[in-house]
Amino acid sequence: YHAKREDDGVCAFSVSMHRALERRQQMTERLGEAIREDRLALHYQPQIDLRTGRLTGAEALCRWQDATWGWVSPGEFIPMAEERGLIRALGDRVLEQATRQLLGWGEQELTLPGRLSLNISAQQFADPHLAEHIQRLTAGLSATAIALELTESDFMRDPEQAVTITRALRKAGFTLAIDDFGTGYSSLAYLRRFSAQALKIDMSFVRHMLANHHDRTIVETIIAMAQALGMKTVAEGVETAEQVAALAEMGCDEAQGYHFGRPLPAEAFAAQWLEQALDDAQEPT
Ligand code: C2E
Ligand code: MG
Ligand code: MG
Ligand code: MG
Repeated sequence: YHAKREDDGVCAFSVSMHRALERRQQMTERLGEAIREDRLALHYQPQIDLRTGRLTGAEALCRWQDATWGWVSPGEFIPMAEERGLIRALGDRVLEQATRQLLGWGEQELTLPGRLSLNISAQQFADPHLAEHIQRLTAGLSATAIALELTESDFMRDPEQAVTITRALRKAGFTLAIDDFGTGYSSLAYLRRFSAQALKIDMSFVRHMLANHHDRTIVETIIAMAQALGMKTVAEGVETAEQVAALAEMGCDEAQGYHFGRPLPAEAFAAQWLEQALDDAQEPT
């Protein structure tokens, strides 16, 4: 059947809309399966102390490889999990897998120095029993081995509730970091009350900091503010030696980014970062 000419545009539009919706629907189903079958992976990215150059911990980042679509970006599947009510289940698998990994490394006599950082989404954060929940899923680990990252905008969604929950998390011994800092309109009054130990400077500021005076000022201001509040700073998305030097000079504490290392599967991370640390420690002095 041939539609009238003026209808063609409308038809083409709705066909592509339909395809996009279908893809999203299929993807949601496949993501749900991957979560239930525990087929999501974690990759680990090193975090480096800018004063000593040493490993201070790692961030675990969720990865999903689908049979049809290949690797799907967390930038796509995390928001999808949040919209489709899958994020709590996903978050639970991440916590369990990270726990198994840390305990497994321990059995191999490999220890991650410092902490493993885990990303927590707003919907997990809304659980008033989050601290107990995380304690249960990370049984066998000390709370001091774990840092929880929450984005600045998640903190500010319901700041009073965030104050209560962060208090409970701190009381349980977990470290807290505010992720993507600088993008989320925190009020300074709340920043103190959240009692997070670290601010992660969003990579959008780090990226242009050397060329753009405005961005450099933002980075300097975040560092100064963190210092005034007794918090650490971690720069995200550090890709060049020049950025490392500038951040160290500004007094930034830690950095994470491709300059030091990309997120790696557990085995590759252990081989490159943990066995190396073990070798260093065993070197005769
Ligand atoms: P994020 O927590 O801010 O993580 C940092 C992101 O920057 C990661 O992207 C990491 O791979 C990327 N990155 C690190 N260094 C560099 C660099 O030097 N240059 C550039 N261009 N990028 C760098 P990724 O892995 O795609 O994750 C994106 C976001 O997805 C994360 O941002 C986080 O918000 C979310 N996410 C990842 N895993 C989880 C998870 O297990 N749970 C939750 N709730 N969210 C997660
Ligand atoms: Mg993060
Ligand atoms: Mg971030
Ligand atoms: Mg982010």
